[in-house]
Amino acid sequence: MERMLRGLPASPGIVAGPVHLLRWEVPDVPPRMVSESDVEGELTRFHDAVSGAQDRLRHVRDRAANQAGVEESKIFEVQITMLDDRALNSEVEGFIRERRSAEHAFDLVMLEWRRRFGRASAPMLRERVGDLMDLHIRVLGILLKLPDSDPVDLPKGSNAILVTHDLTPSLTVQLDRDAIAALATDEGTSTSHVAILARSLGLPAVVGLRDATTRLKGNERVVLDGTTGVLVVNPTDEEIAQARLRAEQAAILEESLRSEANVAAQLRGGERIFLRANVDIPEESELAARSGADGVGLMRTEFVVIGRTTMPDEDEQYRAYRRVVDAFAGKPVVIRTFDIGGDKLPVGGFPSEANPFLGWRAIRMCLDQPELFLVQLRALLRAAAHGDVRILLPLVVSVDEVRRTRALIAEAARTLDERGAVFRDRVQVGVMIETPAAAVAADTFVNDADFFSIGTNDLVQYTLAVDRGNVNLANRFTPLHPAVLRLIRQTVEAGRKRGLEVAVCGEMGSQPLTAFVLVGLGIRHLSVAPRAVPSMKRMLRSISAESAREAADAALASSTAAEAERIVRRLLQAAAYDLSPAELGLLGSETGDILGYAV
Ligand code: PEP
Ligand code: MG
Repeated sequence: MERMLRGLPASPGIVAGPVHLLRWEVPDVPPRMVSESDVEGELTRFHDAVSGAQDRLRHVRDRAANQAGVEESKIFEVQITMLDDRALNSEVEGFIRERRSAEHAFDLVMLEWRRRFGRASAPMLRERVGDLMDLHIRVLGILLKLPDSDPVDLPKGSNAILVTHDLTPSLTVQLDRDAIAALATDEGTSTSHVAILARSLGLPAVVGLRDATTRLKGNERVVLDGTTGVLVVNPTDEEIAQARLRAEQAAILEESLRSEANVAAQLRGGERIFLRANVDIPEESELAARSGADGVGLMRTEFVVIGRTTMPDEDEQYRAYRRVVDAFAGKPVVIRTFDIGGDKLPVGGFPSEANPFLGWRAIRMCLDQPELFLVQLRALLRAAAHGDVRILLPLVVSVDEVRRTRALIAEAARTLDERGAVFRDRVQVGVMIETPAAAVAADTFVNDADFFSIGTNDLVQYTLAVDRGNVNLANRFTPLHPAVLRLIRQTVEAGRKRGLEVAVCGEMGSQPLTAFVLVGLGIRHLSVAPRAVPSMKRMLRSISAESAREAADAALASSTAAEAERIVRRLLQAAAYDLSPAELGLLGSETGDILGYAV
């Protein structure tokens, strides 16, 4: 077997440890018929498997309640109840009475139920598809006597490397951070939700390994390098020693960067850059504040909803937003309204839409469900009484969406006023520029938006028609494509004419190479992963506005992303001559993987 598995770097850090292989996928079930005399035995086998799965789920629920919280553990309570469903049980029993084996009967029913729920018009039913899938896998696993590989019950300090096909919301809630030291997945790219989550949790991760779960048996040790995107299987002593050394060097670099946390982010020549942090999980906000960020440039509130069966109520949301506001004492905190849908963890499961990325999600879903949206808006206005909260709207394509949101903000304020609550109604409302429509028509927003924040992850995806999470397309996900750069330039110009702040909160701002181009395009507000704040400050302090402008001009004049990248790389090394290629994130090959994308 190939000992070096190459994927995509998703979250930095180097870890050596045992593999914990989690094959969370529906196993193949051979269609087996049984004799009449075996029917009773098959019925018993089915019922035993169901109660076995329920016992296991109770255990998982208790564990998740301790680790992640009672609300987060409720997803398992729902699954336990679903297994008691009379209709489900009687359909399986019916098939068994037709002399099908227990696993064959259960498989048929679950396939049908998943299809039916997926097509249901009621969102509550569609949301259950993810749970049905979990149950399908869990009960079949027992019937087929497959090894139980839930990521629970790993001893504390196992330092295990969780290898899985993809990370679903229910698996995410189970992640035991005392036992799991790093993540590796077959699916995903550096901008998919697993990668974002890993970075938030500070867990080193490699994604997009394609077939690691089939290549590995589960009894190996590996070195995972989240900085280069490599997994070394059964490393030699020397490889382990090298990995330790690189981990120590990285720790020393991080320590020295931390000591500079309070130095301002400014260009050589003195121009100020506002470097804010992306905070996805409220619990991480104190740590993020210590990184030296000038506030929060993007809080992804959908992570407050992750893996839950019900939406958090107003008080719970208020507490989550307030925690971030308090941690950043008085600095701007940009909170994005729910961006649920696509690859973004809706409550209880994934919506089954033919084209989720073009689907009923984000601002569209919120505006269509004002009762849900108003809860969030009230929580935000209450949190705004304690700091500089700014509201950011995702996936906007038309100014109507901003106007309708403003009307709802006014309604939320009226309700709070009637209630005598403490709140602030004057909050800035910004628009995410993450669709080509919003970028091309950026000028149409300037009277209704207080600021722009460019979401380059989606802007690249929608402009190039490249699914950001599809590993087979990772080398086509090129932020330096001329179309993307022109859209960014156009947005900056539209904002500048009206004196609006134009920030970038996508991954493009977190990579020195692309951030260099963004600064050259006139961006002065960047929001990056908290861990990237100190190194980005160092990089910004080594470049001048002129060198960045030269890089942006050269990139805009290039006819391909590869050409732009070659030139910008050279210009960055020349401009930031005092920094090493490692400090500039330029350790990959000539094109492609330095941006975190496959080659
Ligand atoms: C983006 O699209 O660039 C962005 C910042 O939002 P998200 O990654 O959450 O879609
Ligand atoms: Mg986005």
